[in-house]
Amino acid sequence: MLNYLAVMKIVIFLGAPGSGKGTIAGRLAEADAALRHVSSGDLLRDAVKRQTAAGVEAAGYMKRGELVPDAVIGQMIGDYLSGMAGECTVLLDGFPRTVAQAEILDAVAGRCGAELTAAILLDVADGIIVERIAGRRVCPKCGAGYHVKNIPPRVAGICDECGAGLVIRKDDNPETVKNRLAVYKAQTVPVIEFYGTRGLLRRVDGAGLIDDIVRMARRAWA
Ligand code: ADP
Ligand code: ZN
Repeated sequence: MLNYLAVMKIVIFLGAPGSGKGTIAGRLAEADAALRHVSSGDLLRDAVKRQTAAGVEAAGYMKRGELVPDAVIGQMIGDYLSGMAGECTVLLDGFPRTVAQAEILDAVAGRCGAELTAAILLDVADGIIVERIAGRRVCPKCGAGYHVKNIPPRVAGICDECGAGLVIRKDDNPETVKNRLAVYKAQTVPVIEFYGTRGLLRRVDGAGLIDDIVRMARRAWA
């Protein structure tokens, strides 16, 4: 009943595809119940799987490595955040990815009474990105993420959490990855500047060990 008093905070995770947004935000949320990991890519993949109207519209864009239209993902994120109750900090991973989406997020935050606390940029060189995406494996059942070298499962090809066989994401093939990186440079890099101008940007070196990156990211907004 007193939920309207609770303030939701939003910490945005920015970075190229493969920069580790999902891994780092996921680890942070696992370690602290007040932190909620919200991934636009996961919401979209779930909508595709359930064949909702938005999912059916999004599928083609995702397969080609293009961005889903701002209005489609904006509505999805807006609905999701509005449905979250209570005092928490949302670790928003994968949204906003265009300046128009950043403006949508301002409107959503205004409506929910949420506060934008920081935008963390995971800084990773292009060469590392390509190597990371090439080795990425995901669990189709529970969504857990792995890397054949950097984050190997206990048994090769099998999810530690649920025992399902790991797969390569449909959009992790070299051709689509090239397109996703180009889209990032053209459409998402301006978002970095958008938050820089507002004094919300925190750069974190995303190239080292996961535990170190998690620690640096946690310190970046407290
Ligand atoms: P990555 O960060 O590795 O590219 P994501 O899971 O975040 O992976 O995104 C996968 C795909 O989902 C993107 O290539 C894009 O098609 C779609 N997508 C995710 N977030 C957004 C967004 N904010 N706006 C538009 N499309 C999005
Ligand atoms: Zn699993």
